[in-house]
Amino acid sequence: MSTTTPAPPAAQAQTSAGTGVFAELVGQSAVVEQLRSAVASGMPTHAWLFTGPPGSGRSNAARAFAAALNCEQGGCGQCQSCRMVAAGAHPAVQLVSTENVTYRIDDVRELITTAQDRPQGYRWRVIVMEDADRMTERATNVLLKSIEEPPPQTVWVLCAPSPADVLVTIRSRCRPVSLRIPPTEEVAALLVSRDGLSAAEAEFSARISQNHIGVARRLAADPQARSRREQIVSLPLRVRSASGAVLAAAELVSMAQTDAEADSAVRLAQEQTALRRSLGLEPEEKIPAKLRSQFKRLEDDAARRAKRAVTDSLDRTLIDLTAAYRDVLSIKLGTGAELINQHLSSQLAELAEVLSPEQSLACLDALNAARVRITQNVPPTLAMEALMMQLIPRTRRR
Ligand SMILES: [Zn+2]
Repeated sequence: MSTTTPAPPAAQAQTSAGTGVFAELVGQSAVVEQLRSAVASGMPTHAWLFTGPPGSGRSNAARAFAAALNCEQGGCGQCQSCRMVAAGAHPAVQLVSTENVTYRIDDVRELITTAQDRPQGYRWRVIVMEDADRMTERATNVLLKSIEEPPPQTVWVLCAPSPADVLVTIRSRCRPVSLRIPPTEEVAALLVSRDGLSAAEAEFSARISQNHIGVARRLAADPQARSRREQIVSLPLRVRSASGAVLAAAELVSMAQTDAEADSAVRLAQEQTALRRSLGLEPEEKIPAKLRSQFKRLEDDAARRAKRAVTDSLDRTLIDLTAAYRDVLSIKLGTGAELINQHLSSQLAELAEVLSPEQSLACLDALNAARVRITQNVPPTLAMEALMMQLIPRTRRR
């Protein structure tokens, strides 16, 4: 378990979506309104459950809420308190995630102890628990009591993909906040206004990332990430034999590792920048000895995150492949719908030629099963080999 923050919300970003800490919650106006009014009431509910698919920005939303609760101006994004939340260095805001498959019972006990502390001169102690779906039932039962009767100045914010992913006992005690996948146009607009992309680049990145803001930004900014994605999506087209499947699986796992390393390095750099800003250090300034431990902690957390990052990257691989097979099915059925991978349409049409609609559906099922296996900690190479075998077009297998 680590107490750090992923990519800090760029508090300075000013987009049409709004300003301050909520600026980056693209396409979530209902959620922003809900959170702003909870902050303005001065008496927020003590337990929240933020849900939304990957890329909807649920942990960004949770962090923005934590910042807004502790800001004199309801989340300006500029004050010391807001900047400390963005840097993961706020004394009253804990951002916890797990690199393990599940939260251990001791992790949860530790959080409950923290929840008892007063917010040290700030308004609220806020505990943001990412991946609340990764809690064992025993750990959940330990958490329940604290959520039922939290100390007066403590707010719990749990995050999960969907309400069904947490036990009903937790769900029924939390106020729900449900994020949606933002529409392509809104993600593209953000990439234009904030990252300075051209309209065409922004639309392309938003579409192939399936409106995942973080992924879209990286695909737009990093040509290598884009070419890795293209390799991944076109890989199954070349797999025609069992030995080819084994090679393809090894290649996919190795690309995921490369991707995860690149991603971790970018994220660590962002965290270091945010921490420097919150401590008032210039970008190149030498870190004073008494602050070094804070930077050391970021590096340690980054190292521990590495394994989880490979799993996340493979999951992304499977999401990209799923999009490609949905495109194939769409071509097959002649729906005329716009393809996510429009730019690969001739390769996808080739695959559509050799797959029956039933086989296309079976491939989608196999992809889904592989995603489940990866999150259940099946060794990545095994899971990917099994998948690649199932993707071999049957007509050519004989
Ligand atoms: Zn502020």
